[in-house]
Amino acid sequence: MRLRFLGASGEVTGSCYLLETRRARVLIDFGAFQGGDASEARNRQFPSAIEPGRLDAVLLTHAHIDHTGRLPLLAQHEFARPIYATPATIDLAAILLRDAAYLQRMDAQRESRKRVARGEPPVRPLFDGNDVDDVLPLLRPVEYQTPTEVAPGVEATWVDAGHILGSASIHLRVREPAEKGHAASDRTIVFSGDIGPRGAPLLRDPTPPTRADVIVLESTYGDRDHRPPEATLDELASILTDAMAHNSKPAGNVVIPAFAVGRTQNLVYHMGILRRDGRVPEPEVWIDSPMAIKATELYRRNRGDFDAEARAIIDAGDSCLHFPGLHFSRDRETSMWLNTRQGLVVISASGMCNGGRIVHHLRHNLSKPESHVLIVGFQAQGTTGRAIVDGASEVRILGEVMPVRARVHTLNGFSAHAGRGDLLWWMSRLESRPKVFLTHGEDGPRERLASGLKERFGIAAALPRYNEAVEI
Ligand SMILES: [Zn+2]
Repeated sequence: MRLRFLGASGEVTGSCYLLETRRARVLIDFGAFQGGDASEARNRQFPSAIEPGRLDAVLLTHAHIDHTGRLPLLAQHEFARPIYATPATIDLAAILLRDAAYLQRMDAQRESRKRVARGEPPVRPLFDGNDVDDVLPLLRPVEYQTPTEVAPGVEATWVDAGHILGSASIHLRVREPAEKGHAASDRTIVFSGDIGPRGAPLLRDPTPPTRADVIVLESTYGDRDHRPPEATLDELASILTDAMAHNSKPAGNVVIPAFAVGRTQNLVYHMGILRRDGRVPEPEVWIDSPMAIKATELYRRNRGDFDAEARAIIDAGDSCLHFPGLHFSRDRETSMWLNTRQGLVVISASGMCNGGRIVHHLRHNLSKPESHVLIVGFQAQGTTGRAIVDGASEVRILGEVMPVRARVHTLNGFSAHAGRGDLLWWMSRLESRPKVFLTHGEDGPRERLASGLKERFGIAAALPRYNEAVEI
């Protein structure tokens, strides 16, 4: 059988793998490339190897756009086979893909205006709401730990990955009968998906595989470990306490750019703990992002996927995603009203500060020395968030150059990705030595992880390139 890498090969976005056996063709994830115009152009090149008319099924590890964002393109290619995912992934994917269609439309309008002014033809969005409406009904729910026949001879099992709500690693058992020239085979192929850190809030820890012939492993943080969660929680407590202590100075706002799915809920969970333990004053916390509000509601409805710690909080009569003083800003008027207030914590998107409501909060706070900006997620090169992290003395916001006088903090301990130590732990339960392919990481981190795998387990991992196909 053959495995082809159609994204996330030497980079962290565009996850997509095509598995072809003698009897079946299955696609695992079909994510968008993200980060600038070049990525956008790559999303427009539909990989010819996929041949949507000959696919038996698509399997999703989780809902993030870099794992699902090219699915609407399948609808444009008349694909009508099942797309299997956990129930929470299906709900989250509906929210994320509709939002992606809206952003595509806005981007295309902006680009078209520029082009028409130059006398060039306008551009069409990569996909639209109709494509999303065509693809969503193809999604079929699968339960965790329940082997499901997804194509002839291919049985798939989704197991906990601990990354975001609904996230999974997918174990494929692929059986091929004896045929002329071919012996019968029975093999297990594991796609890690994105693996969360052990001990992360809300979600159950990842389940490491015990047997596999082939593993496709993510390597986002293959070169480093995060700070321990306790230290991060202490840091968060001291930032909040400092911002809210306003004896002689005006109270400052704490503005937090955060990804709507995963990071926002982790922050709410941690702030709830600090509040319940009486470790911070009683800040008024606002979530100002329609998508983050929808995602938080979905998290609350899927408490069956929570870990024992989160369930214990619920059993004690508390909510782990709510505390007194937490508010949701659902409309633009409320969002604008927040900008007239002081002493608030505002969590908003986009996570990299290059769009969305967060931009307005930055405009109102960046130049105030009493304000704080708290960066909790990865900031790609070229984004406003990266400039702020790198200590720029001024940044351009909504066409206006603004001095950065607010205090900027970077808190990396809330990552939704396993660090190097947890990735090596995930590989430590195997009873045999599989063939390993490292993906979903830039070359530096995946090379460092490859040397770790060699040292610890004697495994020589391969680092595949885009569109590379291997016989396995
Ligand atoms: Zn992810």
